[in-house]
Amino acid sequence: MTSLVGIIGYPLGHSVSPVFQQAALDHHRMDARYEAWETPPEELEGRLRSLRSQDMLGANVTLPHKEAVIPYLDRLTPEARRTGAVNTIVHTNDGLEGHNTDIPGFLRALKEDGEFEPSGKRALLLGAGGAARAVAYALVGRGIAGLSIANRTVERAESLVSDLDTPIATALALNAAALSTLDGWDLVVNCTTLGMYHSAAENETPIPASLIPPDALACDLVYNPQETPLLRAAAQAGARTLGGLPMLVYQGAEAFRLWTDREPPIDVMFDAARRALANIG
Ligand code: NAP
Repeated sequence: MTSLVGIIGYPLGHSVSPVFQQAALDHHRMDARYEAWETPPEELEGRLRSLRSQDMLGANVTLPHKEAVIPYLDRLTPEARRTGAVNTIVHTNDGLEGHNTDIPGFLRALKEDGEFEPSGKRALLLGAGGAARAVAYALVGRGIAGLSIANRTVERAESLVSDLDTPIATALALNAAALSTLDGWDLVVNCTTLGMYHSAAENETPIPASLIPPDALACDLVYNPQETPLLRAAAQAGARTLGGLPMLVYQGAEAFRLWTDREPPIDVMFDAARRALANIG
């Protein structure tokens, strides 16, 4: 019987996960298929029910369902419970288990590709959605010394700060006036959807170049065929840059390990992801 695994999101547009996950399954010669399961909110419950069938290994979960899937799961890992966001579901003998592999995925990208050590540093986080929650918990867990969280809807940033329950985190509005009252960040991370290719905001950056310190690392979770507007602005400011592709591959690699119990072939996954991105460019 062919095993199935897939990505649940809406809309899915040009998701690259099916391409690099299938490449990893094929590398291990597994009789398994990774599918794109575009799922509008009203079909989410049925989609989650279908994951309980025998041939299902599990799923990835993306926008806008990372929080909405939680009531349909049997168990959550501590990371998924703390962040309130699930990006990976594993079908086990005891039911559906919710994980958050965005946390290890982000930390691995930061370390291996950004050569950045959070301990004792100051970070500016742009956004307060599911991805921002994972990044915030990851940075606090690694000893970041100061964390400013700026969001368009400031109440959402305040709620994240309250959940983080640490005096080093503060919330503010995502606008140049509010951001210009602060400075001295070592790390700037875009966790908003601004700059996403093929979206209405594809040319927008959440922060002007003038506010990016030249000695900072600018990291964009958005992964595009070309540099995102934020990374172009950061490069203009003289800052180092890190795009969203490494995190995407590493979070996917952790998910692959959980579904299959096999070593994810990182190079194969990177090659396939880069090719898929180039094709949508
Ligand atoms: P989400 O939960 O829907 O959050 C979206 C965030 O973007 C919120 O902070 C939202 O602010 C903000 N936003 C949306 N439109 C905006 C606008 N016009 N102006 C200012 N802010 C705006 O989404 P998510 O799951 O956190 O994902 C965020 C991004 O990260 C997406 O681009 C996603 O593809 C990317 N991501 C990448 C990886 C990776 O592996 N590289 C992993 C996860 C996510 P409000 O709260 O005010 O609405």
